[in-house]
Amino acid sequence: MKRIGVLTSGGDAPGMNAAIRAVVRKAIYHGMEVMGIYNGYQGLIDGNMKPLELGSVGDIIQRGGTKLYSARCPEFITPEGQQKGIQQLKAHEIEGLVVIGGDGSYRGAMVLTKQGFPCVGVPGTIDNDIPGTDYTIGFDTALNTVIDSIDKIRDTATSHDRTFVIEVMGRDAGDLALWAGLAGGAETIIIPEDPFDMKDIVQRLQSGHDRGKKHSIIIVAEGVMSGNEFADRLKEHANIETRVSVLGHIQRGGSPTARDRVLASLFGARAVELLRDDKGGLAVGMKNNQVVDYTMIEAFEGSHQTDLSMYQLSKELAI
Ligand code: ADP
Repeated sequence: MKRIGVLTSGGDAPGMNAAIRAVVRKAIYHGMEVMGIYNGYQGLIDGNMKPLELGSVGDIIQRGGTKLYSARCPEFITPEGQQKGIQQLKAHEIEGLVVIGGDGSYRGAMVLTKQGFPCVGVPGTIDNDIPGTDYTIGFDTALNTVIDSIDKIRDTATSHDRTFVIEVMGRDAGDLALWAGLAGGAETIIIPEDPFDMKDIVQRLQSGHDRGKKHSIIIVAEGVMSGNEFADRLKEHANIETRVSVLGHIQRGGSPTARDRVLASLFGARAVELLRDDKGGLAVGMKNNQVVDYTMIEAFEGSHQTDLSMYQLSKELAI
């Protein structure tokens, strides 16, 4: 391939810039040109793109967000929108595409691959919910942001003998809540992958209280319910007063951790290698500490497995 494109799509995640940089530098290293496509699939439809040189991705490895911007583009789900995108790829002589995003973005990439434009998916989402990879770009940074917040909230919880409910992101996946809860020493973690029993939670809070533990941290994944709803239920059920903290979008931003930068660099480089080999319809990922590639279909038809042994451990450590 002489010219490839790169776009970021869906929710932004820290480390996407490091992935863009890796794609651009690796492609140029191998003598290819790279078009940066702005605003995800919307920019593809609109022809909003420009060549990226070595210098244009300088000074971004440490930045959160995405230099190429991101967007949700309902038009690209329609055959007409997809045809417009294909026309733009032809007009700009782009032969292959790296799509950095989540499994929704992979679906769009699969459409293009089937139309003769090989695409490779790079997993970028803080939710860590993409089947086939143990980690996604952005998860580690978001996790560290959540832990930092838990540590700060714990200071107040301890000083005032209070129970805090902290709502964390993750869409339908509980990874962020689970990892943050375990790393932050939360007393209770509520994730979508395991139905919770309010009686059990109350009993654990009370037995902790009886032992002299006067504050507690409860982490609720947004995929279960809102932190406020959970706090209301706890109040109704056992008259337990809590304070609620909804972490919100601070979890999506910030300078990527070293781990996310490394992951993004490895993934971006592998994506370019696959396109060089004329391979498309694949997603890159990390399995057992090895960079792997696998079909995108596995990514959007498979189901993400949260490590429930960690969930059990979190309960054992929070007795
Ligand atoms: P994510 O990639 O983070 O999962 P979305 O599910 O919102 O985010 O998908 C991002 C974009 O990918 C959508 O706005 C749309 O442009 C494109 N997309 C999603 N699903 C499809 C589909 N079935 N066919 C074509 N494009 C799709």
